[in-house]
Amino acid sequence: MAGNVAGERRPDGNPFEGNRSRDYPLPPLERSAGSLMFDKAARELGYHPFPGPAANASRPYKNPLGVQMGQCTYCGYCEWFGCGNNSKASPQSTILPVLLKKDNFSYRTGCDVTRVVLDGSGTKAKGVLYRDLEGREFEQPAELVILCAFAHHNVHLLLLSGIGKPYDPVSNTGVVGRNYAYQITSAVEVFVDELMNPYMGAGALGQAVDDFNGDNFDHGPEGFIGGGYIALWTTGGRPILQHHLPQDTPTWGAGWKKAMAENYLHSTAVSTHGNVVSHRNAYLDLDPTYKDIYGNPMLRLTFDFHANDYRMSDYLTSKAEGIARAMKPRSINVKKRKPPYSIIPYQTTHNTGGAAMGDDPRTSVVNRYLQSWDVPNVFVVGACNFPQNPGYNPTGTVGALAYWAADAIRTRYLKRPGPLVQV
Ligand code: SF4
Repeated sequence: MAGNVAGERRPDGNPFEGNRSRDYPLPPLERSAGSLMFDKAARELGYHPFPGPAANASRPYKNPLGVQMGQCTYCGYCEWFGCGNNSKASPQSTILPVLLKKDNFSYRTGCDVTRVVLDGSGTKAKGVLYRDLEGREFEQPAELVILCAFAHHNVHLLLLSGIGKPYDPVSNTGVVGRNYAYQITSAVEVFVDELMNPYMGAGALGQAVDDFNGDNFDHGPEGFIGGGYIALWTTGGRPILQHHLPQDTPTWGAGWKKAMAENYLHSTAVSTHGNVVSHRNAYLDLDPTYKDIYGNPMLRLTFDFHANDYRMSDYLTSKAEGIARAMKPRSINVKKRKPPYSIIPYQTTHNTGGAAMGDDPRTSVVNRYLQSWDVPNVFVVGACNFPQNPGYNPTGTVGALAYWAADAIRTRYLKRPGPLVQV
């Protein structure tokens, strides 16, 4: 449910969102028990809860390309996995079926692109090198190369291919690998008497508030910049990974089993997802020691959260705790994000930066059309283009950037190949 259609504010949508030209194509997913409790509690506190936008089809739907999607059955499988019901929108399910019918389209599965091949001048791509499942290497010639892998992999390919100057954190020069940022999360587990049915969910089924995101609130007394959203997601009920247990529960044995039986159907969590500010000492580069299966240097990530991230996250967590208490629970667990950063517990996959877009080649990898400053027939698309990690999940913006770049390629670049921005 959109909150701002052509300037008209909708009471059940997000009142803080920007003006959009039309509503979402489908109504929101059905609310879970937890979502309804969250909504009521947040409204009582004067906040503005709204259904999180989801790529799960709440109704049968035929998209503008004619691809039919089924209605979501709330099986809760798709937070991390594919959907067998064709109810989860992604490029594979909504665009690929149309491309497969085109005579001029072909694709290779099970292959790894390992390099963009440049000509002798180093300013023009000739194609890409890739390996198939048997390790055989091929060169695919190309007039135009578009890197649209995961954020980190795009940066890895740029570094391996020698496109753009690698970032050096000591001299603060170079651009490829610069502006890496993550997302900072926390949660408040909520234990209630009501039945939660956690296994009835969908990958993006949730209710959120945006009252503490971006500039939606007064930062004056707080001592940090940025913010994030607070939400209650009902994404599924994987019993090992997605259970919640009260504090002081034994970690194994009969006591643990008893607590699991008592709480699995009576628990949920209010989570926070906050922005992270890019810092000079957070970056991606080629690892000097470790190599991948092809003998290429692996990508190395150097990162820790910074003071602003923790201060902002503590603030968001206190607001999430307020909502959790207003849900009238029998108990809660407040799980703040504590230093130092560790890559081991899953937090999010929302990595950004490394190939930032901008208007100055000294501080960005691609121009505003996501075209490489250094090799104009290479475009780079993904969350790697973000100079900072905002208080939202990146997917929507990545999709918008993909359309933006595709439009520039079709309407500008193909008519006159070359740099689309002069400096
Ligand atoms: S919950 Fe996810 S996997 Fe299950 S039907 Fe809905 S979209 Fe598909």
